[in-house]
Amino acid sequence: MVSNGKRPPHLAAVLVGNNGASETYVASKVKNCAEIGFESSLIRLDANVPEETLLQTINNLNNNNAIDGILVQLPLPKHISEQKVIECISPLKDVDGFHPASVGKLVQGLPTFIPATPYGIMLMLEHYNINTKGKHAVVIGRSNIVGRPMSILLSSNLPYGNCTVTICHSHTPNLQEICLQGDIIIAALGRPEFVKANMVKEGAIVIDVGITRVEDATAKKGFRIKGDVAFDEVAPKASYITPVPGGVGLMTIAGLLQNTLQAYKQRLG
Ligand code: NAP
Repeated sequence: MVSNGKRPPHLAAVLVGNNGASETYVASKVKNCAEIGFESSLIRLDANVPEETLLQTINNLNNNNAIDGILVQLPLPKHISEQKVIECISPLKDVDGFHPASVGKLVQGLPTFIPATPYGIMLMLEHYNINTKGKHAVVIGRSNIVGRPMSILLSSNLPYGNCTVTICHSHTPNLQEICLQGDIIIAALGRPEFVKANMVKEGAIVIDVGITRVEDATAKKGFRIKGDVAFDEVAPKASYITPVPGGVGLMTIAGLLQNTLQAYKQRLG
C-alpha cells in the first residue's frame, strides 16, 4: 500500500497518568508500530485530567482522518468512567475491540475488531495448526478484555473454534476438577502460578495470559513478571504451553497491529 503512494497505517495511543505497567505496554506497542512501518502517536495526559478532556481528546482523534486506530490504555484513574471512554471511541477506529458495537458483532459472528489478546491467541492456534474442533476448552476468567471474548471465539464456528467451552470465574466451585477435563486451558485470572500440575491433564494445551509483577529484591527492577501457570511443573504434562513473558503478550501486540491494518484498509480501501 505504501509502495502505491499511500500513507502507512497510523495508530494513536492515549496514556493517562504514569502507571509503570501501562507505560511499558504502550511503549512496546509504539515500538512495534515503528518496527513494521506503521506510524504511531502517543498522547500523554496527566493522571488528574478531567474525564471531559479525555473524551474531547478521543473525539478529536475520531475526527482526524490521518488516524486509523485509537487505543486508550487501561486501567484509567478512578475518577474516569472506563465505559464512557470505551463508548466514545468510534467503532471504525476501535482497534482494541472493546466498544459494545464491536463486542455485539463478535457475539453474532460478524466481521469486527477482535480484542487483541484473544485475537493473538487465535492467531497462535492458527500458526501451530492446532485442531480445536470438538475439544473441551476451559477458560479461567470472564473479563471483557480476555476471558469473555476468548470463550466466544473458541465456541464460534471458526476454523480454530468449535470447542465446547467452560468459562470459570471466582465463584466457580471445583475448579481443579473442571481444569482436569480441559483439552485446552486458557488461564486469564491474574493470580501468579495459580494453575498447578495437579489441575492439568496429560497432553493438554496450556495458554497462559497472566502478567503479574511479583516483588523480588534479587531482580534488577525489584520485581519479576509471573504468569498464571506454574510453568516448570505444568510444562512436562502439556503438549503445548506458552511462556510468560514471551508468549501471549507478544501475540497481543500482533493482534493489535492486525486490527490497525484492518481499520486502515477499511478506511482507505
Ligand atoms: P480481570 O479483569 O481482573 O479478570 C480476572 C478474572 O479472573 C475475573 O473474571 C475473576 O473472576 C477471575 N478470577 C480471579 N480469581 C479467580 C480464582 N481464584 N478462580 C477463578 N477465577 C478467578 O483480569 P484481566 O484483565 O482479564 O487479566 C487477567 C490477567 O491477564 C492479568 O494478569 C493481566 O495482567 C493479564 N493480561 C495479559 C495480557 C497479555 O497481553 N498477555 C492482556 C490482558 C491481560 P470474577 O469475574 O468473579 O471476579
